[in-house]
Amino acid sequence: VFDMLIVGGGPAGAAAAVYAARKGIRTGVVAERFGGQTLDTLGIENFISVKETEGPKFAVALEQHVREYEVDVMNAQRVERVIPADEPGAPIGVQLANGATLRARSVVVSTGARWREVGVPGEREYRNRGVAYCPHCDGPLFKGKRVAVIGGGNSGVEAAIDLAGIVREVTLLEFAPQLRADAVLVRKLESLPNVRIVINAQTTEITGADGKVNGLRWRDRTADAEHDIALEGVFVQIGLQPNTEWLRGTLALSKHGEIIVDARGATSLAGVFAAGDVTTVPFKQIIIAAGDGAKAALGAFDHLIRTSVP
Ligand code: FAD
Repeated sequence: VFDMLIVGGGPAGAAAAVYAARKGIRTGVVAERFGGQTLDTLGIENFISVKETEGPKFAVALEQHVREYEVDVMNAQRVERVIPADEPGAPIGVQLANGATLRARSVVVSTGARWREVGVPGEREYRNRGVAYCPHCDGPLFKGKRVAVIGGGNSGVEAAIDLAGIVREVTLLEFAPQLRADAVLVRKLESLPNVRIVINAQTTEITGADGKVNGLRWRDRTADAEHDIALEGVFVQIGLQPNTEWLRGTLALSKHGEIIVDARGATSLAGVFAAGDVTTVPFKQIIIAAGDGAKAALGAFDHLIRTSVP
């Protein structure tokens, strides 16, 4: 039986593992892909104290740091279910896709999230070569250039406002006949001189040449005509999907599917904590996820010393 079992090996899970192991308790990490989203990131320039690094390098460093301690790392394992304890203080079950069930006195869920894709030709091909998903991360790469933001909800409009301060020109494309963001954000967006808003716009292709983005094609849904925009970058902002499908019915989730946590990372189920992009914590970033993982591990440790006999 683990004292603390961490599900997910991204920045949140790795931080939770280090914090747990340093308490001298029996710690395990189960992860489908150790490193998480950082494995898919080209450059990281906003993890304070590391001026710049590459995603895969950062992922290796996460795993090395965890392996400095006595942590049972189970990589390439998918978790399918959390089984609540039979009675208060009894172990919680964590069922793997391979059929095995692990048991733990406390669990930290840090299964992260994934950006929703628009699913048009060019999107995957030019990912990290002009197609981006995170304005806080990649905005500065497009300084002085032309970009489009796909999506007119809160995240799209916030991204467009943010980018307008960095890039030369922003075109915001919304599929519906009106923007879906809060009125205050829409007013702010409309006041910016270098932003163009296009509604009823269905993106049909992201085009490129020489291995980088050079334009975006969209269809006017009212006139059924296609248009091209010349640009250097496309930010896809149509939603971040938390990896919680496997937790429906077990933990309380927000309407966006995020695990609802309190200030210590506690979830609706006693002994189960959560951290990082998978939760309701605002702003999905590496440094935030790592801090959050440390916090959830300390929250879980506090729970352990109050509930279990060593
Ligand atoms: P994740 O990194 O998503 O890790 C989740 C972990 O859970 C993984 O190990 C995954 O395999 C595992 N997992 C998921 N489901 C299961 C399951 N059922 N069973 C077992 N394991 C499971 N942030 C920055 O701060 N700076 C940047 O420059 C930056 N650039 C980015 C670029 C890209 C392309 C992307 C996609 C994201 C970027 N981000 C950046 C965001 C950042 O990567 C995330 O905020 C951060 O990784 C979240 O950490 P996490 O540990 O919460 O989740």
